[in-house]
Parts: sequence; structure tokens; C-alpha cells
Amino acid sequence: MQVPLLDLKEQYRGLKKEILQEISNICDSQRFILGDKVQKLEKEISEYCGTRFACGVTSGSDALIISLMVEGIGAGDEVITTPFTFFATVGAICRVGATPVFADIEPDTFNIAPSRIEAKITPKTKAIIPVHLFGQCCAMDAVRAIAAKHNLIVIEDACQAIGAEYNGRRAGSMGNYGCFSFFPSKNLGCFGDGGIVTTGDEEKIELLRIFRNHGQGSTYMHKYVGGNFRLDALQAAVLSIKLRELDSWSSARERNAAEYRRLFAESKLGSKVGMPVVADYASRHIYNQFCILVADGRRNELCDKLREAGVGCAVYYPLPLHLQECFSSLGYKEGDMPVSEKTSKEILALPIFPESTSEERRFVVETIEKILCG
Ligand SMILES: *Cc1c(COP(=O)(O)O)cnc(C)c1O
Repeated sequence: MQVPLLDLKEQYRGLKKEILQEISNICDSQRFILGDKVQKLEKEISEYCGTRFACGVTSGSDALIISLMVEGIGAGDEVITTPFTFFATVGAICRVGATPVFADIEPDTFNIAPSRIEAKITPKTKAIIPVHLFGQCCAMDAVRAIAAKHNLIVIEDACQAIGAEYNGRRAGSMGNYGCFSFFPSKNLGCFGDGGIVTTGDEEKIELLRIFRNHGQGSTYMHKYVGGNFRLDALQAAVLSIKLRELDSWSSARERNAAEYRRLFAESKLGSKVGMPVVADYASRHIYNQFCILVADGRRNELCDKLREAGVGCAVYYPLPLHLQECFSSLGYKEGDMPVSEKTSKEILALPIFPESTSEERRFVVETIEKILCG
């Protein structure tokens, strides 16, 4: 049996006719940049996330960059975030010229530990970027309380968490900005790169729209130096169609996760494998990834042998960002972020996509049992 880590072909099959018709209509209109398809998606996403506004942009990475730009965050400023995230979170901070400052994660949720943030605040700190990793929200009340006390902006990196909930509130509706990615492998993916920024702030949505179009206030009159961060109509149209299915896909991921938990509990694996923890405040986990922890230093061996046996798996992320070569000038060293470092050595993502089958999950768990117990 071959079990891919992710296979998007089946969800496309069901929507193919409608999507191709929409693409054909847009091609006939020859209107590709922004326009009513993008406006429609912005309205739908802001409603979905429980925010007032949304601004379609070129990618999740650019969603982070434009949020920082609109706040005027740049050289001489510090932004606190987690070292255990996809590179783009920290790349965005550097791209605007600011300095990333890392706070270690919680060992159970893999999200930034609020208790470690305050010690990192200096007079230069301007913002916190909490990342809702793998589809589970951060402890947002605690993050927001710290931000309020120190007058900091909160930019939620919700790129892996569209529809995830913290005590009933959706990802992207709790900070000053919510940044989403529509990269194809995200829970809501388009047919290329795409992203969106949510906000509840009427002034800031104006600025976001100006900044995504080269800082242009009116035609060829530039109030700011922005960039080309525009989402295109083809991507927006694909996303509007797929958004209608998102909740049923997220429910399928939750069911798949519950089945994995049962299968692991019934296996002989015991403490050899740790299950992902759902925090009590996480009223909805959307499982962009289902990540187990592999004990006894056997993660790499398990990953290699699973792939040999036909099971797709991946390590998110093998080297925490404070130890990446490109950030060596920040002066961090091994041992500075012990929880992130330990997690990066034990974590392993298993197939969880909505269309994966019970048979496949049984095969995955049986194969892990054979490798680790056999
Ligand atoms: C995917 C992702 C991004 C970047 O999104 P792109 O659309 O690929 O630019 C940023 N942060 C996190 C946590 C992500 O998973």
C-alpha cells in the first residue's frame, strides 16, 4: 500500500467542472488583477474568520510583510516570535529590516509560551507574532494581555490555521492582523501562491489596500512605498469555490485525528509515540498537520523506514530558526531554546488529509508498530 502525506487530486476532481468554468469566465473577461472576484473572496473570508475586513495578497509570507509595513515596523525595531515555525514568519521580520527575538514554545502544543514572552520585551519591541502551528491556536488571551500591557501590536500567523478556534473565536480575529496563506498544501489552498490579511481596524484596512498596490493612494499618486502584493482574480475565484467545502474538510481531518488516537491507543506502542495535545482552550483544531513525537532518538529512523514502506511523512521542522545559518548574526546558540530544539528532534507529521482512508491509517499505525516494536 502507498499512503501519500498529502494528495489534492481527489478534492479537485469533485470541484473540477465548476472551477474550470469560473477560470474560463475570467479568461473571457481578461480581468485578472484584483476586481470583483477578489472583493467577493475578501468578504467571504472576513465573515468566515469573524473579522470586519480582509485584504487579498500574493502569499502568506507577503501577508506578514505587509502587516509589518503598515505598522511602520522596520530598522531598529524588535518583533517577538517563536523559533519553531515555518521560515516565512521570521523571514518577514527580517525583510522589513526589523530584528526577530525568539521566545521558546510550550512542549505540548508547540506554540509560543506566553510565560516566556515578557522577559524578551525591551524598549525596542513593537510587535508579537504568535503562530497557530499545525492548525491549533496559541494561548491568545495570555498573548493579548502581554501585548496590551506593553502596547504591542499582535500579528497572528494563521497560515496553518484557517477556521481554527480559541474558546470559540476564530484564528485571525484576535490580533490586530491575521495572516493567512493559500499555498496549495494549506487547508484552503489555491492553484499557485496566494494569501490574505484580516483586520478589524477600518484605518488599517485602507492602508493595507494602499500598500498592496505600491502605496498608491489615487492613480499614480504614491503616499507610501508599498509593493506589488495583489491577489489575482483566478486564485480568488478558485478559493471562493473551495471555501464552501472547507468546514467539511476540517471535520474530516478532525475525524481522522480521532481515529489515529484510537489506533495508537490500541497498539503496542505505548509511550514510544506521543500524540498531539489539544489545549483546553482550543475549541477547534483544524489539523493542518497531525504530528506525533517519537521517543528514544528514533525519529529519523522511523521516518526513513516509513517512506521505504510507502508511507509519506515529513519533519516540520528539523532545525529551529534560532539555529539557522542565515540568523547566526542574531547570536543564538544551541541550548537557548531547549523545548524547540528537543521537539525538532522528535516530531513527525503523518498523513491526515480529508480524503485519506481508515484503511490507510490502520496501515500507517501498523507499520509504525512493526518498526518501533518489531
Ligand atoms: C505557509 C506558511 C507561511 C507562508 O505562506 P506562503 O503562502 O507560503 O508564503 C507563513 N507562516 C506559516 C506558519 C506557514 O505555515
